[in-house]
Amino acid sequence: MKTYRDILKWGDKREFELDEGTKKLIIEKLGYSESDFKQKHLAGDHPIQLKKTSDIDAEILKQFTSIVGEENISTLDSERASHSYGKSYPELLALRLEQIPSPPDAVLYPRTDKEIIEILAICQKNKIAITPYGGNSSVTGGLKTPLGGISLDLTKHINQIIEINETDFTTTVQAGMFGPAFEEYLNNYGSKYSCGHFPQSFEYSTVGGWVAAKSAGQASTGYGKIEHMVLSLKIITPTGVIQTKTYPASAQGWDIAQIFIGSEGSLGIITEITMKIRKYRPDNTDYASFIFKDFASAVTAMRICMQKGIGKPHLFRISDPEETEIAFKTKGFEGSFSDKFLNTIGYKSGSRCLMFVAVEGHKDYTKQVISLIKKVVKKSSAFSLGSKPTKKWLNQRYTSAYMREPLMDLGIMTDTLETAVMWSDLLPLWEAVRKYLKKREKTVVMVHISHVYENGANLYFTFLSPMKKGEEQKEYTAYHKGIIETILSHKGSLSHHHGVGRILAPWMEKELGKESLQLMQAIKNHIDPKGIMNPGNTLGLKP
Ligand SMILES: Cc1cc2nc3c(=O)[nH]c(=O)nc-3n(C[C@H](O)[C@H](O)[C@H](O)COP(=O)(O)OP(=O)(O)OC[C@H]3O[C@@H](n4cnc5c(N)ncnc54)[C@H](O)[C@@H]3O)c2cc1C
Repeated sequence: MKTYRDILKWGDKREFELDEGTKKLIIEKLGYSESDFKQKHLAGDHPIQLKKTSDIDAEILKQFTSIVGEENISTLDSERASHSYGKSYPELLALRLEQIPSPPDAVLYPRTDKEIIEILAICQKNKIAITPYGGNSSVTGGLKTPLGGISLDLTKHINQIIEINETDFTTTVQAGMFGPAFEEYLNNYGSKYSCGHFPQSFEYSTVGGWVAAKSAGQASTGYGKIEHMVLSLKIITPTGVIQTKTYPASAQGWDIAQIFIGSEGSLGIITEITMKIRKYRPDNTDYASFIFKDFASAVTAMRICMQKGIGKPHLFRISDPEETEIAFKTKGFEGSFSDKFLNTIGYKSGSRCLMFVAVEGHKDYTKQVISLIKKVVKKSSAFSLGSKPTKKWLNQRYTSAYMREPLMDLGIMTDTLETAVMWSDLLPLWEAVRKYLKKREKTVVMVHISHVYENGANLYFTFLSPMKKGEEQKEYTAYHKGIIETILSHKGSLSHHHGVGRILAPWMEKELGKESLQLMQAIKNHIDPKGIMNPGNTLGLKP
């Protein structure tokens, strides 16, 4: 029988063990002892049993069944529970507390666009809420179903590549295709291609989810965020099907596709995406890594690289001093001969910062960009660490996603928040948010920059802090509110790439302004007049 733990776990359902380096960190910085690692706090290991039964009308259920077939509809507790939440910290906490107050009434796995159109018509007629469901990696409460209704899971059937055009360098893909299957298909097709989009959730997120939540991958500095990659979309909405056309660019008034990118299921169901592809040539990728004496000089070097016209790296990343020290500690570098050497020559622990760079493309291009970056960063007294640290980082890139379960088993709050900021405001914002986060005792705060532009960059905050047992939800809500307010009052955006969902919705009016939110609401009212699409405050929109 499925347990709450089965559905809260990230990806691979095996239990993930913390490595010795991380255990050492938890003991030293968070005040844990060896014996604490033997217990599991709020393990969520009971069988799922929903208090709320499915409210769906028997006649309507019959109609849905006749559309998708018996094998593609479920009202089982386990299915409804696994479609109730995404993967944000408060949602995982709720699952550990075995709280699922408003699951969907049914889960549907449509096979075709035609079926989706028919399902939408029934929902529209009967005012049934409908929540599109991709990889289930949302970290904004975007998959919650506060009004019940149906969860429309696209991953079972709507998951194929429709076309690859080697002349135009485009692919058309169905929304429910997962990242690895998409990339593998492209890598092996014709002259070999890549999608160029690798969020940390890559293994368990879908192309449709990337578009709906406006995501960013690790190579975004070179290739752009998902909104820079999409050329056209097909969206099934309650008022009809919208299929935008594919052009390299156009000036036909508003860009309609962009209205749906980041719409988080609130306007319709994205079923097909035509997007750019690029050549897959991993052998050409050139890597570099550097250490800087402090965060300010690393940020300056990064900014100059972006503004100098020397070509863009694809992966471009700086860890702040605390993230750098934690990487050194957990990877066993702390206290080594190289560590002592770096400290002796002025790269002191506590202020030094790591930078990772990778450039993709033609061999001549990658070599040239890396060599120009080396020249620029040397002026900020960066010390070159060669290519290995970046390659190592890339090899374990997806691992930290699995660490949340063992950390939460210890009663540790483990969450991330991210923002975008102009260069002039970046350091004050970094300092202010760190200061706020550090107000909590025994809190580890790691910050990095990983999506970089000519005009600014993102800041990504990861924090670990022991929770008072029994007070987890209350403590988190208050702490999280303070972080968002500190970000906004220091000129950071509400989100750079996680999206808004329901968790950040309360700040949308403050962030966008009343008039802008009203404009979004007017579009919503036009396209979804009965308010059935992912209702319940997604993006701050009212049904
Ligand atoms: C460990 C971890 C790491 C992450 N790393 C990153 C990262 O590096 N970069 C990043 O940008 N994000 C990251 N995220 C957030 C998340 O992975 C992204 O938002 C991702 O784009 C969601 O894709 P999904 O397929 O899982 O969508 P889901 O979580 O299933 O859905 C997300 C939202 O989009 C809607 N939706 C999904 N599919 C469709 C569709 N076809 N049509 C209309 N609406 C739809 C849903 O209703 C929901 O509101 C991370 C999350 C986790 C848990």
